[in-house]
Amino acid sequence: MSHVMSTYARQPLAFTRGEGVFLIDAAGKRYLDALAGVAVISIGHCHPKLAKAISDQAHSLIHTSNIFNITLQEKLADRLCEVSGMDNVFFCNSGCEANEAAIKLARLHGHKKGIEVPTIIVTEKSFHGRTMATLTATGSRKVQAGFEPLLAGFARVPYDDLTAVRQVAANNKDVVAILVEPITGEGGIHIPAENYLSELRAICDQNGWLLMLDEVQTGMGRTGKWFGHQHSGVRPDVMTLAKGLGGGMPIGACLASGPAASLFQPGKHGSTFGGNLLACAAALAVLDVLQEEKLVENATSTGEYLMSRLRSEFTGVPGVTQIRGRGLMIGIELDRNCGELVPMALERGLIINVTADNVVRLVPPLSFSVEHADLLGSILVPLIRDFLSSAPARSAA
Ligand SMILES: *Cc1c(COP(=O)(O)O)cnc(C)c1O
Repeated sequence: MSHVMSTYARQPLAFTRGEGVFLIDAAGKRYLDALAGVAVISIGHCHPKLAKAISDQAHSLIHTSNIFNITLQEKLADRLCEVSGMDNVFFCNSGCEANEAAIKLARLHGHKKGIEVPTIIVTEKSFHGRTMATLTATGSRKVQAGFEPLLAGFARVPYDDLTAVRQVAANNKDVVAILVEPITGEGGIHIPAENYLSELRAICDQNGWLLMLDEVQTGMGRTGKWFGHQHSGVRPDVMTLAKGLGGGMPIGACLASGPAASLFQPGKHGSTFGGNLLACAAALAVLDVLQEEKLVENATSTGEYLMSRLRSEFTGVPGVTQIRGRGLMIGIELDRNCGELVPMALERGLIINVTADNVVRLVPPLSFSVEHADLLGSILVPLIRDFLSSAPARSAA
């Protein structure tokens, strides 16, 4: 019996090596990686610059605690603010922790205005993490079931529904913020209407709410811009990052701008590991590689190529409901549950993921080339066609 708690239904497979966009198992079999450790390995596996940065830092200093100045943390905050236009950063170790920091900022913002039960608007189809506050914020009963009582102070609206937000604005004087993903990740790669974020920005401004964007999955170049919201020309008050930020080293960040940037004062929040030297050295190397190798731009060009190839190959194929995405964050929605595609793809040397039961999610490294996209298509397209012609259509969840 395994001594590891059974929180994951794991594929019976372990990898021993990574090379760019490929993973290699113990038997030497190569797999094209279109999952990238769930949108984490943005610069590819074991990039020599990242490996060197981690190794060099490990030999000089790994951790000191936030009781002292950490120069690399200052440097990383400068770089992140430079590409985002935000004012300052709190560093932590994961996406849920970054969202916890955002939730605490929203509550401080509310209490400052004399609101005793500050309420945050969150959406259906969202995923914000597995801590108690972030699973409460998450729009999925599956994530919440069994962990009641959930936290107070959240109001839920459908995703991409401005009318519902305006209704809450009119009826609930306790609202202090809205927390939303620019594109839903775990929820099935749903892309909101063109004006969604800019209208949310306007509603927040009218009501004195914080616009808080969970960019844990959409950030760090994934959608073909540094951050998902940059497609809409808005600036959030709070933005959270993790996944791609450390290239596989655990690091998260909560960025703030304007009044939200001065809410935290000494004693209000903290983290033992957050922003330690090793994690910051890794994130700085990731930023260097993203810029030097123009990987954000590459996410746009390879993403557009891959999406148009998938669209043309699946035109008129019954069972493929919709193909949607931005940059290298792509979802292929089928008319039936399709979790079985994951082991079938592994057999053919391809790593994919299925989310929201019936959406094939592709979030490969941002270093994916057109040749990699072609290889992916040559495996995935016949696989999905075979699957659709043999698996009975069932109503999707
Ligand atoms: C993955 C994810 C999280 C949670 O991140 P962890 O590092 O697993 O805590 C939060 N929000 C979004 C949008 C995510 O995709």
